[in-house]
Amino acid sequence: MLVDNDAPLAPLTTLRLGGPARRLVTAVTDAEVVETVRAADAAGEPLLVIGGGSNLVIGDAGFDGTVLRIATEGFVLDGTLLELAAGEVWTDAVARAVDEGLAGIEFLAGIPGSAGATPVQNVGAYGQEVAETITEVVAYDRLLRETVTLTGEDCAFSYRHSRFKADPDRYVVLRVRFRLADEDGMSSPVKYAEVARTLGVEAGQRVELRTAYETVLKLRAGKGMVLDPEDHDTWSAGSFFTNPVLTDDQYAAFLRRLDGLAAPAYPAGEGRTKTSAAWLIDNAGFRKGHGTGRPATLSTKHTLALTNRGGATTEDLLALAREVRDGVRAAFGVELVNEPVMVGVTL
Ligand SMILES: Cc1cc2nc3c(=O)[nH]c(=O)nc-3n(C[C@H](O)[C@H](O)[C@H](O)COP(=O)(O)OP(=O)(O)OC[C@H]3O[C@@H](n4cnc5c(N)ncnc54)[C@H](O)[C@@H]3O)c2cc1C
Repeated sequence: MLVDNDAPLAPLTTLRLGGPARRLVTAVTDAEVVETVRAADAAGEPLLVIGGGSNLVIGDAGFDGTVLRIATEGFVLDGTLLELAAGEVWTDAVARAVDEGLAGIEFLAGIPGSAGATPVQNVGAYGQEVAETITEVVAYDRLLRETVTLTGEDCAFSYRHSRFKADPDRYVVLRVRFRLADEDGMSSPVKYAEVARTLGVEAGQRVELRTAYETVLKLRAGKGMVLDPEDHDTWSAGSFFTNPVLTDDQYAAFLRRLDGLAAPAYPAGEGRTKTSAAWLIDNAGFRKGHGTGRPATLSTKHTLALTNRGGATTEDLLALAREVRDGVRAAFGVELVNEPVMVGVTL
């Protein structure tokens, strides 16, 4: 177990933003994770758990408590059942699963961060989300003070949400178990229109697993959604806003504001419609690269990513986020909600 005092947190985030941690503990075994959490809880010490720091906006003041960085390792395959330690790098785990010829997470290639964080916001992309394959999550329950095993159903997954996100101070994920599928070298059915178009197939068809994996990586790279330290468009937390899910009344009010424009609309359960945050931002007048010349700008490749051009502070980034949120509200009456977790700051 590695312990550092007054440790900079910015280098541990993909935005490269945020002040220092009073104490940073890096844990490499489950026992070290549990010991650190128990000690912090017993001392009444604030605790922040981090993996790859790819979904975090940490305030410039930093974190006045213990930051626990989970760096455990473990990739255990038993037939089509895969168990990952929370600290496993997600992109590497997806690549290995594809190498093993197993389908189920191939469209989630290139998403930064740790395996342990994937259930937290039910990580998803290109028509696939981890809720579809997670069978169990082993976590330390800070309320019961014991290690528990939650089934996929217990995790209460929904769009970019879960029981872990709803109750952020209760569970520390130690291991995640997935049921993958052996489809004789083929992928899961293609669901996402852009992927189907790129591959020249109909939605619902399967393609070669490796082709699916590589296609997603290429599409993501074109949008600055694969980490590249040389490319400031990837100094982000991915999509900064979730796609708004509107009730029927909100959707009717939204349609009245559109003035002839056609906005994307997808069914999102009984009485709910999902629209596109990227479309709203773009049509509210914030183009790719908006803010050029300032320390924090929209990515030049994707309107949904807010980026640090190198010298930004968290306050610079938040000022941009507020400008975009307020502009979308003024144009369309829709409230954008941040996807990354805010630490010590609010929008
Ligand atoms: C370029 C880029 C592209 C992205 N694309 C996508 C995408 O396509 N789809 C998508 O869903 N997300 C995307 N993201 C967001 C991010 O990669 C995911 O949310 C990822 O799962 C975060 O993992 P992490 O380990 O970096 O979590 P962190 O940022 O370290 O933490 C995020 C949250 O999870 C909590 N947490 C982390 N580990 C644990 C644990 N073991 N137990 C309990 N809580 C924990 C933290 O406390 C925090 O609240 C993208 C981000 C970037 C930078």
